Amino acid sequence: MTLRKTKIVATLGPASSSEEVINRMADAGVDLVRLNFSHGTAQDHIDRANLVREIASRHRRPIGVLCDLQGPKIRIGKFEHNKIQLAAGDKFILDADCKLGNQTRVGLDYKTLPAEVEAKTVLLLDDGRIVMTVIEVRGTEIHCVVNAGGDLSNNKGINRQGGGLAAEALTDKDKADILTAVALDADYVAISFPRSAADVQLARQLVQAAGGHAGIIAKIERAEAIGALEEIIDASDAIMVARGDLGVEVGDAAVPGLQKRMIRMARARNKLVITATQMMESMITSPIPTRAEVSDVANAVLDGTDAVMLSAESAAGKYPVESILAMDRVCREAEKDFDSQHAKPRGNKGFHRIDESIAMAAVHVAQHLKVKAIASLTESGTAVMWLSRANILVPIYALASKKETRRKLTLFRGVYPFPFEQHNNDRDQILMDAEDELKSRGAVVDGDLILLTIGEPIGISGGTNTLKIVKVGEHRKS
Ligand code: PGA
Ligand code: MN
Repeated sequence: MTLRKTKIVATLGPASSSEEVINRMADAGVDLVRLNFSHGTAQDHIDRANLVREIASRHRRPIGVLCDLQGPKIRIGKFEHNKIQLAAGDKFILDADCKLGNQTRVGLDYKTLPAEVEAKTVLLLDDGRIVMTVIEVRGTEIHCVVNAGGDLSNNKGINRQGGGLAAEALTDKDKADILTAVALDADYVAISFPRSAADVQLARQLVQAAGGHAGIIAKIERAEAIGALEEIIDASDAIMVARGDLGVEVGDAAVPGLQKRMIRMARARNKLVITATQMMESMITSPIPTRAEVSDVANAVLDGTDAVMLSAESAAGKYPVESILAMDRVCREAEKDFDSQHAKPRGNKGFHRIDESIAMAAVHVAQHLKVKAIASLTESGTAVMWLSRANILVPIYALASKKETRRKLTLFRGVYPFPFEQHNNDRDQILMDAEDELKSRGAVVDGDLILLTIGEPIGISGGTNTLKIVKVGEHRKS
């Protein structure tokens, strides 16, 4: 069977924390797991990360670990009886001083909200399911009228339509959680609600100061982030199209267009992109997705996303494994269309780096010579980033000696990381070992033509400078 190029990220939660379920998720093809720091204790996340890595090593392939920080999600407090029902026209008070809510008012975890809203501000609760308009602010109390009602339960989120709340992207909890993420050796840390490149840079500094090497993912979910998209992408390793909160802030109808723009921009700027939220939402309770969900996942693949993500479907749904299998099947099929539409040489932009030039040379050859694969001997994965941003039909095998590099590459579309030990400095021996590794993994057979990118002298990071065209098994004949 051909390899799936688009990667699958699955959120772990109560439905997916046992060894048995994670094992089946690995069988189903999950590439990365997301640990959601909005829920659970530090120890829960550490235990899950350890379990995932144990299972990954039994499967002889890396599974990445993505730690998703909660961020300044503004939430209401709890109710006396856990939930209430609101109807259009009801008056309701959001009160920063209220301890336990009832039918007329509820508390707020973000104490400065009353200072940041005014009459006519529209507030959206529970991902926009409940809408209320501010009538007036009296001290700690925000008096509202309900426009769209429904059930409202404990700790639901609040967004302001149009965005613009002052909340800092990294809360004290997030800063503590970054230490946990580093302690569990996270491959990626995702920051929620960044407004600017500075928010991303601060997260990176904190990760590095703690001794971590995680890539930084900016979740694009605030109206302000759209205006600062280029600088945020440049400051990040990857972005997440966080459609849940984004849809609430900018309106649901604006999200599909923004998704396409974000994917295009991330790829053009040599960065990764994850498409997230409600992709297989009905599979929380149903064993099969709707046609609309199938189309949504397929369209993200056709847009060029690196990865598609499961949230509640895998964390708390009834069918965590089936949702991965459904995504797997839809991605594979959509990739056939993507390949036929996009396998064109990219425009003749100037190259700025040696490794970029080698990668582009490999892409050019792969588009004109019938090769089976590209294999890249890589330390840091830099050359592989260049390769994976071009739309090439053949798989890119990354032969990486560092496990941190292999785990990071789990997010790259079309890239398959393999471990590769260099036992000595004998170049010919190393290249033969590389061929043997590819053969033992079933990636190539004798007689296949492959492209090899190498950094010489071998073993130095960021130094890809050589492209070699190899007929597998040929050198052994002499
Ligand atoms: P969340 O982020 O699931 O952490 O809220 C994703 C989104 O808002 O889409
Ligand atoms: Mn969100």
